[in-house]
Amino acid sequence: MQGPRPLRAADPVDANAALEAPLTVLRGVGPETAKDFERVGLTTLNDLLHYYPRRYDNYARMKTINRLQYGEECTLIATVTDMHERKFRGNRTMLQVTLSDGTGTIEVTEFNPYRKQLLTPGRQVVVSGKVDQYLGRLTIKPREWEKLDVELLNTGRIVPVYGLTEGLYQRSLRNLTAQVTNYWARRQTDPLPAEIVSRAGLMAYGDALAQIHFPDNETALADAQHRLAFDELFALQIGVLRQRRDWQATPARPLAIPDAGFDSFLKSLPYPLTGAQQRVVAEIRADVARTTPMNRLLQGDVGSGKTIVAAAAMAIALAAGAQAALMAPTSILAEQHYRTLLRLFAPDEQAAVAVRLLQGSTPAAEKAEILAGLRDGTIRIVVGTHALLEDPVEFAALGLAVIDEQHRFGVAQRASLRAKGRGSDGTAVSPHLLVMTATPIPRTLALTVFGDLDLSILDEMPPGRQPITTYLLHANERERGYAFVRREVAKGRQAYLIFPLVEESEKIEARAAVEEYARLQKDIFPEFQLGLLHGRMKPDDKDAVMAAFKANETQILVSTSVVEVGVDVPNATVILIDGANRFGLSQLHQFRGRVGRGEHASYCLLTSDSPDPTPDARLQAMEQTQDGFVLAEKDLELRGPGDFLGTRQAGFAALQAAGLGDVATIEKARREARLIFEVDPELMTPEHAGIRKLVDAFWQTGSGDVS
Ligand code: ADP
Ligand code: MG
Repeated sequence: MQGPRPLRAADPVDANAALEAPLTVLRGVGPETAKDFERVGLTTLNDLLHYYPRRYDNYARMKTINRLQYGEECTLIATVTDMHERKFRGNRTMLQVTLSDGTGTIEVTEFNPYRKQLLTPGRQVVVSGKVDQYLGRLTIKPREWEKLDVELLNTGRIVPVYGLTEGLYQRSLRNLTAQVTNYWARRQTDPLPAEIVSRAGLMAYGDALAQIHFPDNETALADAQHRLAFDELFALQIGVLRQRRDWQATPARPLAIPDAGFDSFLKSLPYPLTGAQQRVVAEIRADVARTTPMNRLLQGDVGSGKTIVAAAAMAIALAAGAQAALMAPTSILAEQHYRTLLRLFAPDEQAAVAVRLLQGSTPAAEKAEILAGLRDGTIRIVVGTHALLEDPVEFAALGLAVIDEQHRFGVAQRASLRAKGRGSDGTAVSPHLLVMTATPIPRTLALTVFGDLDLSILDEMPPGRQPITTYLLHANERERGYAFVRREVAKGRQAYLIFPLVEESEKIEARAAVEEYARLQKDIFPEFQLGLLHGRMKPDDKDAVMAAFKANETQILVSTSVVEVGVDVPNATVILIDGANRFGLSQLHQFRGRVGRGEHASYCLLTSDSPDPTPDARLQAMEQTQDGFVLAEKDLELRGPGDFLGTRQAGFAALQAAGLGDVATIEKARREARLIFEVDPELMTPEHAGIRKLVDAFWQTGSGDVS
């Protein structure tokens, strides 16, 4: 393949600058295609170079039809020998395709009629999907089809598969990345000093960029992934170290409360604090007494009692004459916190402490009144959503900011809350910051992603919680699971049935969920009312379904993985998770937390649809422990950091390759980042210029996104 057209303006030696050229400099990219690229966030050559494949097809490992095994994921090269259309319900069309490869013949059903052009008889195709059974014969549930690219088959044995959007095609995207990598990848200067590259045992930068797109072999691919994961984690660390330093550069108002006052606050609570709560409250009290602003992450499982810890911190702020703010990701959560804090701080009309709720939907007149009260200091506590971050919100003396469900907010949100602090003379003062999360993150990862924060952990549940018994069912024991659900519902309880995420497309998944719901209602639980929840529903419809379940108008809720973290239905005592092997442990743990919220003993039933008969170690861990942190560590050990560093949890869009690394890579990156930061925190020396660009680019795209 040839290089791109010569770039007129660019100096050929400065490969890095030339990469800022728009994609239209490439052969085959006109203004229309450029728009399609823009939709996946690609505008420059550099973007394309860093658009890493979603997965790879290893042509050396392709299966032949006679060697397919039920239940496995496969990729097959075959010739379409026959294809005809069939009508089914609702006048929809499906394609009945026959494939042969010299070792056998297989029938495949494709539900997307738009594949018709591709699947004309005589054509050679590559199909990936899962081997399934229909009427006793093997078939493939197709996930992806492609025209066979003979050139790739003959030359590259491992072929990249990219995420696509309308108007972008695998084959042309490969041609373009090949053009860009062939010509530019190895002309890139390495952003890391040679010293780090050799000490950390990294593949050279240019090689890594080339190999991540077109790997020579599996080892080279692994090395490339390791290198690029290192770069991201390293940039992340440097930024995190900087943030910590910046945060601490602006002093805080020290907040102290006399022992007597604090004791009487604690006595006013409806229950004594658990040991873990007492410990964390003491940590916070010590933190906020200093002029260095607190920057603390409180991790505690759902139900571990984080709210009251936040309230104790607020009590300290109030006693010291400062204001406190609490920000939650959703209105439902904000309102819930508001009611809790009202009960604690303003139990009656004459209450001395003014507590207010500020949301996007707050009426303008009331909003104006709240803003005025915050500005003149008469309002002491404000609870709200993102609305709190808006410009007009100013405080007389913000001493403490609390952010609930940290994983839903980015670094930028933290920074803008911090900017709300100011002293009586108008100078900048940082509020003390407490961020809280219910997502258990193993310590190594917490230090990486939230490395600018100190860590507190609530590892003890308040007394009186119902235990949740977890059972692992074999795939063929689903009926037993249904029988169990039926017994609980007959007793007056309610149940969740979680439907696994099978399809990559939400649309197909929604369809499957609708069908499964209809089947369950008609064939399995005709005597009960079922509700359905899936990701393609409008928010209002979701709310209506949840409200009906909460009111026990529906007894069983069939749902895809969208069941919200905040859902609280104490009468629900059983959750059956189908295809549990497909979910991460943290997610399973979150699902399980939907039950065991009331006075009744609760159950979690897990079924696996893995063809592998050996029991799944992760699911066994679910049976053995209810401790979210133990499960998180286990998940990290068994699946690597991918699930945790996925953009949703970490909140960094720029973490692309990081999930492919491992804990060792994370630790290595942290060590190297610290060494650099100690000698040159501003990255001003010439040998650190590359690092500076890497870090800037990372934090430009990586920070501040809200999921
Ligand atoms: P989370 O950590 O999930 O935010 P919450 O703060 O909402 O948990 O607390 C969950 C429930 O436990 C609430 O109903 C709260 O009143 C109760 N709770 C919290 N701490 C204690 C305690 N020490 N003793 C008894 N109940 C408690
Ligand atoms: Mg909470």
